[in-house]
Amino acid sequence: MSTAKRPTLEIHKFGGASLTDVAAFRHAVSIVRGRTGQRVVVCSAPQGVTDALLGMAKRARGGREVGLAGESIALRRRYQTILQAMVPSKTARRAAADEIDRSFDELDALVTSLLVLKELTPRTSDFIAARGERLSARYVDAVDVVITDGPYGGASPNLMLTDMATRKVLRPLLEKGMLPVVPGFLGAVPASDDDDPGLVRPAATLGRGGTDLTATLMGRALGAREVLLWKDVPGMLTADPRVVPNARVIPQLHIREAAELAYFGAKVLHPRALIPVSGRNIPVFVRPFGDPTATGTEISGRRTLDRYPVKALSAMPGQALVTITGNGMLGVPGIAARTFAALFQEQISVSLISQSSSEQSICFSVPEGTAKRARTRLCEEFREEISREEVSGVEATMGLATLAVVGVGMAGHPGIAGRVFRALADARINIVAIAQGSSELNISFVVASGEAAAAQRAIHDAFQLAKIGGGAAARGDHLDVVMLGFGQIGRTLGDMIVKTGGRDARGGRKSDGRPLRVVGVIDRGGYVFDPEGLSTRDLGALIALKEGGRSFADAPDGRAAKPTEAVATFAKHALSSPVLVDVTADETTPIVKEALRAGMDVVLANKRPLAGSRQASSELQALANESGQRILFEATVGAGLPILDTYKKLVESGDKVLKIEGCVSGTLGFLITEIGRGRPFSESLRRAMEKGYTEPDPRDDLSGADVGRKALILGRLLGFDGEPEDVDVESLVPEAYRKLSLPAFLGRLEELDTDWERRANAARSKGATLRYVASVTKNRIAVGLKVVDGASPFAALKGTDNQIAFTTTRYRQNPLIVTGPGAGLAVTAGGVLNDILSLG
Ligand code: ADP
Ligand code: ASP
Ligand code: MG
Repeated sequence: MSTAKRPTLEIHKFGGASLTDVAAFRHAVSIVRGRTGQRVVVCSAPQGVTDALLGMAKRARGGREVGLAGESIALRRRYQTILQAMVPSKTARRAAADEIDRSFDELDALVTSLLVLKELTPRTSDFIAARGERLSARYVDAVDVVITDGPYGGASPNLMLTDMATRKVLRPLLEKGMLPVVPGFLGAVPASDDDDPGLVRPAATLGRGGTDLTATLMGRALGAREVLLWKDVPGMLTADPRVVPNARVIPQLHIREAAELAYFGAKVLHPRALIPVSGRNIPVFVRPFGDPTATGTEISGRRTLDRYPVKALSAMPGQALVTITGNGMLGVPGIAARTFAALFQEQISVSLISQSSSEQSICFSVPEGTAKRARTRLCEEFREEISREEVSGVEATMGLATLAVVGVGMAGHPGIAGRVFRALADARINIVAIAQGSSELNISFVVASGEAAAAQRAIHDAFQLAKIGGGAAARGDHLDVVMLGFGQIGRTLGDMIVKTGGRDARGGRKSDGRPLRVVGVIDRGGYVFDPEGLSTRDLGALIALKEGGRSFADAPDGRAAKPTEAVATFAKHALSSPVLVDVTADETTPIVKEALRAGMDVVLANKRPLAGSRQASSELQALANESGQRILFEATVGAGLPILDTYKKLVESGDKVLKIEGCVSGTLGFLITEIGRGRPFSESLRRAMEKGYTEPDPRDDLSGADVGRKALILGRLLGFDGEPEDVDVESLVPEAYRKLSLPAFLGRLEELDTDWERRANAARSKGATLRYVASVTKNRIAVGLKVVDGASPFAALKGTDNQIAFTTTRYRQNPLIVTGPGAGLAVTAGGVLNDILSLG
């Protein structure tokens, strides 16, 4: 037995995705407190802060001042709130509060100068972003422990200098029993660049996600026993769970596999995070922040899971393929070398290279944004060869994704590439280019962006990666809402969803239901989509856009598309329990069908899909039943009233509903109540219009068509199998007035007054009241004006209230009554929201 003591030091890194709010910071503290021995903590900026800071810098450079000041204030407040809750000592709190204020004052000054200068260097950009981490962790500054060789914007750490600096600064602290907290993501710039004698030394960022790298640098320098990366995922997964829903946690990965995945775009790890610990026997654990007892993924030198030659997939979206072709390249040495040297000089990173063996072409993939530059540079480089026609051209193809299939076991298993390509062929996916890493650890290939998701699912299935034993990705905690239509109800609903606070249910705190987030909005002209969820700010901007009368196609991130195309596009992403919410009043049946086929549940406020032909509505139900999707439509009948819910509960408890009768039009209810009070029809209708209770053309309400649709929906619940024409609808607009233009009709309203007055008086003389009533049984549906006597519950209805009476086997003498407001934005949106929540 060796007597050498194993080091006990642990590095704990908390990622930005986990650090959402005060509760999350507290949770992080509890994780660290729950361990024993020496510990170093490395912190990211709180969630979204880096994005926000960089976004502000970019907008300021572009001269777009709107909202910048407000955003700065909001960020400042966020830090102050966390500080107030986290630091008990008053003096320490005071000092830190000043520090926060100073940092944000500085930010405001920087933003102001960017607005003037309209120039943003990587150095300034880093200086701006650095405060995110620097305010997250104050005790040790990053520039004292991580030393880099530059450049700004994506600095490479100097391992030797970092080892020395870290040991020098942290070891004494650890020996004193302290628990150093280090800001991630940053390092000192090379001495030659450090020309700023100011108080805060400039820092270079290590590239996005760089806090992972800070953590492994600390682990290496201090000889840690392990590095724990606490993230908001259950571990390293077999694929990005947003793309492949049945992705699984990989219990253990070889360090080279993990490095390969990180390099090829698996967003979970910084691409160079594993370099500091390679060959060091310092395992790295990716652990779920929300569930500290779960083991997550071990990344180490072990080789396990031999049955899985392929362990995981990753994808780099937004790639372009650059191809150099020409007969003259045959056997000419140095073409490849010159190509990549030229790209290196342009600082363009190449992710996949393949050269056909005939040497007629070299092709490689680069980030889309750099493709033009790459092409121009190469045309220059090979100008002479091109003029001699030895090189015939340099071409760039955009809109591609590079996928990587990774596993150390691939080397010992022949035929892996064949299985990959067969899976893609079966899924009818075309491969644009292929390369196999010489390590045989990785096969990578290029496909069209639009096919990347399907390609990953096909390969994931082909290698049965869903059977890897580390447990489900346990995603799907959200309900992803896609909104069709964004009129008044849609906007009210959007607002309500934001207020359910869907974005905060992280950090293992269990909320009652599943948090909601809006991932897409669709109108007739286009859509806006973000599979990660639109933020409150995004939604606010979209509300403003719609209020300005424009289409989503005009939004900054908007696309023009037909609604069915939009739904099909969304369906390519692995959304979490997606729900299509139809808050239009259009004929949307084809869109709803598309959504059901794509595996979405459907919530309708729109009556039309269920009140069309019998065949159309039963097709929808059949489609839903086929794949276990649900269609909920409470808001179609009584806005927010639990009418369908009551019906369902009656049936579930074994009762039989014989007849449903009711006043289900808030608009007509209001109108008729006013007339009943002696107000002329013309005036009553104008009032209803002013209050926004009617359709733009009030004849749509007066015709009874809307009530007819509601009645048909109810009738179909009872088994009515007729067509819309079979519904007996009494129109309140006389024939002669139906064909008039709207202004002409409105100009002649007074002509109808006497008739209405006569009806109202006749009812009143009998002690009765007029009501527009829907009467629904399995065999007959009729809607029309009725004289109800004073004893009827309908007589007492007021304003826009709705009332529904269920006559059932149990409630035969005394029908069961549901009553309440049946129109209005808030109640309707509330009804829709209830349906959405009940899906969770
Ligand atoms: P941190 O909070 O530590 O910065 P990240 O947000 O960088 O964490 O990493 C987690 C993200 O990585 C998740 O959004 C997840 O969807 C994504 N991801 C992509 N590929 C994978 C994968 N193979 N395994 C786990 N997560 C992945
Ligand atoms: N906050 C930085 C980023 O968002 C670094 C990190 O989170 O690792 O990229
Ligand atoms: Mg990260």
